[in-house]
Amino acid sequence: MNYTIEQLPSPCWLLEEDLLKNNLEILKYIKEKADVKILLALKGYALWKSFPLLKPYLDGCCASGLHEAKLAHETFSKEVHTYAPSFKEDEIEEIASISHHLIFNSPSQFKRFAIQAKEINPNLSLGLRVNPEYSKSPKEIYNPCGLYSRLGTTKKNFDESMLEQCDGLHFHALCEQGADALENVLKHFEEKFGTYISQMKWINFGGGHHITRKGYDVEKLIKLIKSFKTKHDVEIYLEPGEAIGWKTGTLIATVLDIVHNGMEIAILDTSAEAHMPDTIIMPYRAEVRNAGEAGEKAHTCRLAGNTCLAGDIMGDYSFDKPLKIGDKVIFEDQMHYSMVKATTFNGIKLPSIATKKEDGTIELLRTFGYEDFKDRLS
Ligand SMILES: *Cc1c(COP(=O)(O)O)cnc(C)c1O
Repeated sequence: MNYTIEQLPSPCWLLEEDLLKNNLEILKYIKEKADVKILLALKGYALWKSFPLLKPYLDGCCASGLHEAKLAHETFSKEVHTYAPSFKEDEIEEIASISHHLIFNSPSQFKRFAIQAKEINPNLSLGLRVNPEYSKSPKEIYNPCGLYSRLGTTKKNFDESMLEQCDGLHFHALCEQGADALENVLKHFEEKFGTYISQMKWINFGGGHHITRKGYDVEKLIKLIKSFKTKHDVEIYLEPGEAIGWKTGTLIATVLDIVHNGMEIAILDTSAEAHMPDTIIMPYRAEVRNAGEAGEKAHTCRLAGNTCLAGDIMGDYSFDKPLKIGDKVIFEDQMHYSMVKATTFNGIKLPSIATKKEDGTIELLRTFGYEDFKDRLS
Protein backbone atom coordinates (compact mmCIF):
# COMPACT_ATOMS: atom_id res chain seq x y z
CA MET A 1 0.00 0.00 0.00
CA ASN A 2 1.18 3.52 -0.78
CA TYR A 3 0.88 5.89 2.17
CA THR A 4 0.86 9.65 2.38
CA ILE A 5 2.65 11.34 5.27
CA GLU A 6 -0.78 12.06 6.79
CA GLN A 7 -1.75 8.39 6.60
CA LEU A 8 1.38 7.02 8.25
CA PRO A 9 1.06 5.98 11.87
CA SER A 10 2.51 8.57 14.24
CA PRO A 11 5.24 8.89 15.30
CA CYS A 12 7.09 7.44 12.32
CA TRP A 13 10.61 7.41 10.97
CA LEU A 14 10.67 7.97 7.22
CA LEU A 15 13.75 7.02 5.24
CA GLU A 16 14.12 8.71 1.84
CA GLU A 17 15.86 6.28 -0.46
CA ASP A 18 16.94 8.85 -3.04
CA LEU A 19 18.80 10.78 -0.33
CA LEU A 20 20.45 7.59 0.91
CA LYS A 21 21.52 6.82 -2.66
CA ASN A 22 23.12 10.27 -2.96
CA ASN A 23 25.27 9.51 0.08
CA LEU A 24 26.16 6.08 -1.26
CA GLU A 25 27.21 7.55 -4.61
CA ILE A 26 29.71 9.79 -2.82
CA LEU A 27 31.13 6.78 -0.97
CA LYS A 28 31.31 4.80 -4.21
CA TYR A 29 33.26 7.63 -5.83
CA ILE A 30 35.77 7.57 -2.95
CA LYS A 31 36.05 3.78 -3.13
CA GLU A 32 36.84 3.92 -6.83
CA LYS A 33 39.24 6.86 -6.67
CA ALA A 34 41.15 5.84 -3.57
CA ASP A 35 40.88 2.05 -3.78
CA VAL A 36 39.64 1.90 -0.21
CA LYS A 37 37.12 -0.44 1.39
CA ILE A 38 34.15 1.16 3.13
CA LEU A 39 32.05 -0.54 5.79
CA LEU A 40 28.77 0.50 7.35
CA ALA A 41 29.08 1.03 11.12
CA LEU A 42 25.93 -0.62 12.45
CA LYS A 43 26.27 1.35 15.66
CA GLY A 44 25.07 4.43 13.78
CA TYR A 45 22.67 3.00 11.21
CA ALA A 46 21.05 -0.42 11.31
CA LEU A 47 17.83 -0.12 9.32
CA TRP A 48 18.40 -3.55 7.85
CA LYS A 49 15.45 -3.53 5.51
CA SER A 50 17.31 -0.85 3.56
CA PHE A 51 20.46 -2.98 3.26
CA PRO A 52 19.64 -4.30 -0.25
CA LEU A 53 20.15 -0.69 -1.32
CA LEU A 54 23.48 -0.35 0.50
CA LYS A 55 25.01 -3.68 -0.45
CA PRO A 56 26.05 -2.85 -4.03
CA TYR A 57 27.93 0.22 -2.76
CA LEU A 58 29.70 -0.98 0.38
CA ASP A 59 32.07 -3.78 1.34
CA GLY A 60 30.31 -4.93 4.48
CA CYS A 61 29.60 -3.89 8.04
CA CYS A 62 31.53 -3.18 11.18
CA ALA A 63 29.93 -4.58 14.31
CA SER A 64 30.47 -3.74 17.96
CA GLY A 65 29.85 -7.21 19.35
CA LEU A 66 27.83 -10.38 18.90
CA HIS A 67 24.42 -8.93 18.11
CA GLU A 68 25.60 -6.47 15.50
CA ALA A 69 27.87 -9.15 14.00
CA LYS A 70 24.88 -11.49 13.69
CA LEU A 71 22.81 -8.76 12.09
CA ALA A 72 25.61 -8.05 9.61
CA HIS A 73 26.00 -11.75 8.84
CA GLU A 74 22.26 -12.35 8.41
CA THR A 75 21.20 -9.21 6.58
CA PHE A 76 24.25 -7.79 4.79
CA SER A 77 26.26 -10.93 4.04
CA LYS A 78 29.46 -9.23 2.92
CA GLU A 79 32.51 -8.59 5.14
CA VAL A 80 31.87 -8.57 8.89
CA HIS A 81 34.44 -6.73 11.02
CA THR A 82 33.88 -7.06 14.73
CA TYR A 83 35.44 -4.91 17.40
CA ALA A 84 34.33 -4.59 21.02
CA PRO A 85 35.95 -2.90 24.02
CA SER A 86 36.06 -6.46 25.35
CA PHE A 87 34.83 -9.84 24.19
CA LYS A 88 33.24 -12.42 26.47
CA GLU A 89 34.27 -16.04 26.72
CA ASP A 90 30.75 -17.31 25.96
CA GLU A 91 30.38 -15.18 22.81
CA ILE A 92 33.78 -15.37 21.16
CA GLU A 93 33.13 -18.65 19.30
CA GLU A 94 30.06 -17.39 17.52
CA ILE A 95 31.64 -14.01 16.80
CA ALA A 96 34.77 -15.65 15.37
CA SER A 97 32.75 -18.01 13.20
CA ILE A 98 30.84 -15.24 11.41
CA SER A 99 33.48 -12.46 11.30
CA HIS A 100 36.15 -11.73 8.68
CA HIS A 101 38.12 -9.30 10.83
CA LEU A 102 38.26 -9.53 14.60
CA ILE A 103 39.72 -6.49 16.31
CA PHE A 104 40.80 -6.53 19.93
CA ASN A 105 40.93 -3.52 22.20
CA SER A 106 43.94 -4.55 24.28
CA PRO A 107 46.93 -6.91 24.18
CA SER A 108 45.32 -8.78 27.08
CA GLN A 109 42.18 -9.54 25.04
CA PHE A 110 44.31 -10.35 21.99
CA LYS A 111 46.32 -12.92 23.88
CA ARG A 112 43.29 -14.36 25.60
CA PHE A 113 41.28 -15.03 22.44
CA ALA A 114 43.58 -14.98 19.36
CA ILE A 115 44.40 -18.69 19.21
CA GLN A 116 40.88 -19.82 20.05
CA ALA A 117 39.37 -17.52 17.43
CA LYS A 118 41.76 -18.71 14.70
CA GLU A 119 41.01 -22.34 15.55
CA ILE A 120 37.32 -21.68 15.01
CA ASN A 121 37.86 -19.69 11.84
CA PRO A 122 41.31 -20.05 10.23
CA ASN A 123 40.47 -17.35 7.66
CA LEU A 124 39.88 -14.77 10.35
CA SER A 125 42.12 -11.71 10.15
CA LEU A 126 43.12 -10.42 13.58
CA GLY A 127 43.79 -6.82 14.48
CA LEU A 128 44.35 -4.47 17.38
CA ARG A 129 42.69 -1.15 18.04
CA VAL A 130 45.24 1.46 18.98
CA ASN A 131 44.79 4.85 20.55
CA PRO A 132 46.72 7.53 18.64
CA GLU A 133 46.22 9.77 21.70
CA TYR A 134 45.15 12.64 19.54
CA SER A 135 41.67 13.88 18.90
CA LYS A 136 39.94 17.18 18.54
CA SER A 137 36.52 15.62 18.99
CA PRO A 138 33.97 18.40 19.54
CA LYS A 139 32.35 16.71 22.56
CA GLU A 140 34.17 14.89 25.35
CA ILE A 141 31.52 12.16 25.63
CA TYR A 142 32.28 11.31 22.00
CA ASN A 143 36.06 11.62 22.25
CA PRO A 144 37.64 8.16 21.92
CA CYS A 145 41.08 9.59 22.70
CA GLY A 146 40.13 11.64 25.73
CA LEU A 147 41.77 11.52 29.13
CA TYR A 148 41.79 7.98 30.59
CA SER A 149 40.04 6.60 27.49
CA ARG A 150 39.55 2.83 27.63
CA LEU A 151 39.21 2.62 23.84
CA GLY A 152 42.30 1.32 22.05
CA THR A 153 45.84 0.49 23.13
CA THR A 154 48.25 3.34 23.74
CA LYS A 155 51.83 3.15 22.49
CA LYS A 156 52.95 2.66 26.07
CA ASN A 157 50.79 -0.45 26.42
CA PHE A 158 51.61 -1.92 23.01
CA ASP A 159 52.90 -5.48 23.29
CA GLU A 160 55.15 -6.57 20.44
CA SER A 161 54.79 -10.24 21.27
CA MET A 162 51.42 -10.34 19.53
CA LEU A 163 52.73 -8.82 16.29
CA GLU A 164 53.22 -12.21 14.66
CA GLN A 165 49.49 -12.96 14.80
CA CYS A 166 48.36 -9.41 14.09
CA ASP A 167 47.27 -8.56 10.52
CA GLY A 168 46.04 -5.05 11.06
CA LEU A 169 45.76 -1.94 13.19
CA HIS A 170 42.56 -0.01 13.79
CA PHE A 171 42.03 3.46 15.13
CA HIS A 172 38.83 5.43 15.65
CA ALA A 173 39.56 8.95 16.75
CA LEU A 174 37.11 11.21 14.91
CA CYS A 175 33.57 12.39 15.52
CA GLU A 176 31.70 14.35 12.83
CA GLN A 177 35.02 15.64 11.49
CA GLY A 178 36.63 16.63 8.21
CA ALA A 179 39.61 15.40 6.23
CA ASP A 180 41.93 17.93 7.93
CA ALA A 181 41.22 16.23 11.27
CA LEU A 182 42.01 12.85 9.72
CA GLU A 183 45.29 14.24 8.42
CA ASN A 184 46.26 15.24 11.96
CA VAL A 185 45.22 11.90 13.43
CA LEU A 186 47.25 10.09 10.76
CA LYS A 187 50.34 12.09 11.73
CA HIS A 188 50.00 10.99 15.34
CA PHE A 189 49.15 7.42 14.35
CA GLU A 190 52.23 7.14 12.15
CA GLU A 191 54.43 8.79 14.73
CA LYS A 192 53.41 6.30 17.41
CA PHE A 193 52.74 3.10 15.49
CA GLY A 194 54.56 3.70 12.18
CA THR A 195 57.21 1.09 12.87
CA TYR A 196 54.57 -1.66 12.89
CA ILE A 197 52.71 -0.70 9.72
CA SER A 198 55.06 -2.57 7.35
CA GLN A 199 54.10 -5.83 9.09
CA MET A 200 50.36 -5.21 8.58
CA LYS A 201 48.00 -6.26 5.80
CA TRP A 202 45.42 -3.59 6.59
CA ILE A 203 44.86 -0.39 8.52
CA ASN A 204 41.35 0.60 9.55
CA PHE A 205 40.83 4.38 9.81
CA GLY A 206 37.62 3.93 11.88
CA GLY A 207 34.56 6.16 11.61
CA GLY A 208 33.67 9.75 12.39
CA HIS A 209 34.49 10.93 8.86
CA HIS A 210 31.69 13.34 8.03
CA ILE A 211 32.05 12.52 4.35
CA THR A 212 28.53 13.28 3.15
CA ARG A 213 28.24 16.61 4.94
CA LYS A 214 28.17 19.62 2.65
CA GLY A 215 31.67 21.07 2.42
CA TYR A 216 33.53 17.89 3.39
CA ASP A 217 36.76 17.79 1.41
CA VAL A 218 36.31 14.48 -0.42
CA GLU A 219 39.33 15.08 -2.67
CA LYS A 220 41.54 15.57 0.37
CA LEU A 221 40.32 12.30 1.87
CA ILE A 222 41.13 10.52 -1.40
CA LYS A 223 44.58 12.12 -1.46
CA LEU A 224 45.31 11.11 2.15
CA ILE A 225 44.29 7.51 1.55
CA LYS A 226 46.23 7.24 -1.70
CA SER A 227 49.42 8.63 -0.25
CA PHE A 228 49.13 6.39 2.82
CA LYS A 229 48.66 3.38 0.57
CA THR A 230 51.62 4.32 -1.61
CA LYS A 231 53.83 4.86 1.40
CA HIS A 232 52.89 1.73 3.34
CA ASP A 233 51.40 -0.72 0.80
CA VAL A 234 48.47 -1.79 2.97
CA GLU A 235 44.75 -2.14 2.44
CA ILE A 236 42.70 0.70 3.97
CA TYR A 237 39.26 0.50 5.53
CA LEU A 238 36.88 3.28 6.54
CA GLU A 239 33.85 2.53 8.69
CA PRO A 240 31.49 5.50 8.76
CA GLY A 241 28.07 5.27 10.41
CA GLU A 242 26.68 8.76 10.60
CA ALA A 243 27.91 9.69 7.11
CA ILE A 244 25.78 6.94 5.59
CA GLY A 245 22.51 7.91 7.25
CA TRP A 246 23.30 11.65 7.26
CA LYS A 247 20.26 13.71 6.21
CA THR A 248 18.43 10.76 4.70
CA GLY A 249 15.15 10.93 6.57
CA THR A 250 12.90 12.34 9.23
CA LEU A 251 10.96 11.59 12.38
CA ILE A 252 7.35 12.64 11.88
CA ALA A 253 5.31 13.35 15.00
CA THR A 254 1.90 14.77 15.83
CA VAL A 255 0.86 17.53 18.22
CA LEU A 256 -1.33 15.96 20.92
CA ASP A 257 -1.99 19.02 23.07
CA ILE A 258 -0.93 22.61 23.62
CA VAL A 259 -0.48 23.88 27.16
CA HIS A 260 0.52 27.28 28.49
CA ASN A 261 2.91 28.02 31.34
CA GLY A 262 4.78 31.23 30.70
CA MET A 263 4.98 30.15 27.08
CA GLU A 264 3.21 27.92 24.63
CA ILE A 265 4.22 24.26 24.89
CA ALA A 266 3.24 21.59 22.36
CA ILE A 267 3.14 18.03 23.64
CA LEU A 268 4.05 15.62 20.85
CA ASP A 269 3.44 11.89 20.55
CA THR A 270 7.22 11.34 20.45
CA SER A 271 9.97 11.92 23.01
CA ALA A 272 13.38 13.58 23.03
CA GLU A 273 14.51 11.19 25.77
CA ALA A 274 13.19 7.98 24.20
CA HIS A 275 13.32 8.62 20.46
CA MET A 276 15.95 11.32 19.93
CA PRO A 277 18.27 10.81 22.93
CA ASP A 278 21.24 12.63 21.42
CA THR A 279 19.26 15.87 21.54
CA ILE A 280 19.68 15.51 25.31
CA ILE A 281 23.01 13.66 25.60
CA MET A 282 25.16 15.44 23.03
CA PRO A 283 23.20 17.77 23.19
CA TYR A 284 22.14 19.10 19.81
CA ARG A 285 19.13 20.85 18.40
CA ALA A 286 17.17 18.90 15.81
CA GLU A 287 16.04 20.94 12.82
CA VAL A 288 12.28 21.11 12.43
CA ARG A 289 10.79 21.54 8.96
CA ASN A 290 9.36 25.04 8.34
CA ALA A 291 10.42 26.23 11.81
CA GLY A 292 12.96 28.80 12.94
CA GLU A 293 14.78 29.68 16.13
CA ALA A 294 12.66 30.86 19.06
CA GLY A 295 11.45 34.39 18.30
CA GLU A 296 12.46 34.26 14.64
CA LYS A 297 8.97 33.66 13.24
CA ALA A 298 5.64 34.96 14.57
CA HIS A 299 4.73 32.10 16.89
CA THR A 300 7.23 30.61 19.31
CA CYS A 301 6.44 27.25 20.86
CA ARG A 302 8.34 24.73 22.97
CA LEU A 303 8.27 21.20 21.54
CA ALA A 304 8.15 18.57 24.24
CA GLY A 305 7.76 14.81 24.62
CA ASN A 306 4.93 12.69 25.92
CA THR A 307 6.80 11.15 28.85
CA CYS A 308 6.78 12.20 32.49
CA LEU A 309 10.43 13.30 32.42
CA ALA A 310 10.46 17.05 33.04
CA GLY A 311 13.45 17.49 30.74
CA ASP A 312 11.89 15.64 27.83
CA ILE A 313 12.12 18.72 25.62
CA MET A 314 13.27 19.03 22.01
CA GLY A 315 13.67 22.79 22.23
CA ASP A 316 12.00 26.10 21.48
CA TYR A 317 11.04 26.78 17.87
CA SER A 318 9.01 29.36 15.99
CA PHE A 319 6.42 28.95 13.26
CA ASP A 320 4.55 31.24 10.83
CA LYS A 321 1.21 29.98 12.11
CA PRO A 322 0.44 28.79 15.64
CA LEU A 323 0.71 25.01 16.05
CA LYS A 324 -2.57 23.28 16.70
CA ILE A 325 -3.64 19.87 17.89
CA GLY A 326 -3.26 17.29 15.12
CA ASP A 327 -0.51 19.17 13.24
CA LYS A 328 2.48 17.18 12.04
CA VAL A 329 5.93 18.19 13.29
CA ILE A 330 8.79 16.88 11.16
CA PHE A 331 12.24 16.52 12.71
CA GLU A 332 14.95 16.51 10.05
CA ASP A 333 17.96 14.21 9.82
CA GLN A 334 16.80 11.46 12.19
CA MET A 335 18.06 8.33 10.42
CA HIS A 336 21.44 7.88 12.10
CA TYR A 337 21.80 7.11 15.81
CA SER A 338 18.21 8.13 16.73
CA MET A 339 16.71 4.83 15.58
CA VAL A 340 19.38 2.55 17.03
CA LYS A 341 19.27 4.34 20.38
CA ALA A 342 15.50 4.59 20.81
CA THR A 343 13.96 3.06 23.91
CA THR A 344 10.49 2.30 25.29
CA PHE A 345 11.12 4.46 28.34
CA ASN A 346 7.93 5.31 30.20
CA GLY A 347 6.07 2.78 28.04
CA ILE A 348 6.05 5.19 25.15
CA LYS A 349 5.47 3.49 21.82
CA LEU A 350 8.44 3.19 19.49
CA PRO A 351 8.04 5.14 16.25
CA SER A 352 6.96 3.10 13.23
CA ILE A 353 9.43 2.78 10.36
CA ALA A 354 8.59 3.67 6.77
CA THR A 355 10.55 4.20 3.59
CA LYS A 356 10.00 6.49 0.64
CA LYS A 357 11.07 4.75 -2.53
CA GLU A 358 12.80 6.51 -5.39
CA ASP A 359 9.49 6.62 -7.32
CA GLY A 360 7.91 8.54 -4.44
CA THR A 361 5.74 5.78 -3.03
CA ILE A 362 5.83 5.33 0.74
CA GLU A 363 5.92 1.85 2.23
CA LEU A 364 5.33 1.14 5.92
CA LEU A 365 8.01 -1.33 7.06
CA ARG A 366 7.26 -1.85 10.72
CA THR A 367 5.00 -0.78 13.56
CA PHE A 368 5.53 -1.40 17.26
CA GLY A 369 3.11 -1.97 20.08
CA TYR A 370 2.61 -2.97 23.68
CA GLU A 371 4.34 -6.34 23.23
CA ASP A 372 7.64 -4.66 22.30
CA PHE A 373 7.54 -2.82 25.62
CA LYS A 374 6.53 -5.90 27.61
CA ASP A 375 8.96 -8.30 25.90
CA ARG A 376 12.04 -6.51 27.07
CA LEU A 377 10.94 -6.61 30.68
CA SER A 378 10.10 -9.43 32.98
C1 LIG B 1 31.05 4.74 16.42
C2 LIG B 1 32.07 4.02 15.66
C3 LIG B 1 32.11 4.11 14.25
C4 LIG B 1 31.17 4.98 13.46
O1 LIG B 1 31.30 6.32 13.80
P1 LIG B 1 30.49 7.47 13.04
O2 LIG B 1 30.80 8.68 13.83
O3 LIG B 1 29.05 7.10 13.10
O4 LIG B 1 30.99 7.51 11.65
C5 LIG B 1 33.08 3.39 13.59
N1 LIG B 1 33.96 2.61 14.26
C6 LIG B 1 33.94 2.51 15.60
C7 LIG B 1 34.93 1.64 16.27
C8 LIG B 1 33.01 3.21 16.35
O5 LIG B 1 33.02 3.11 17.68
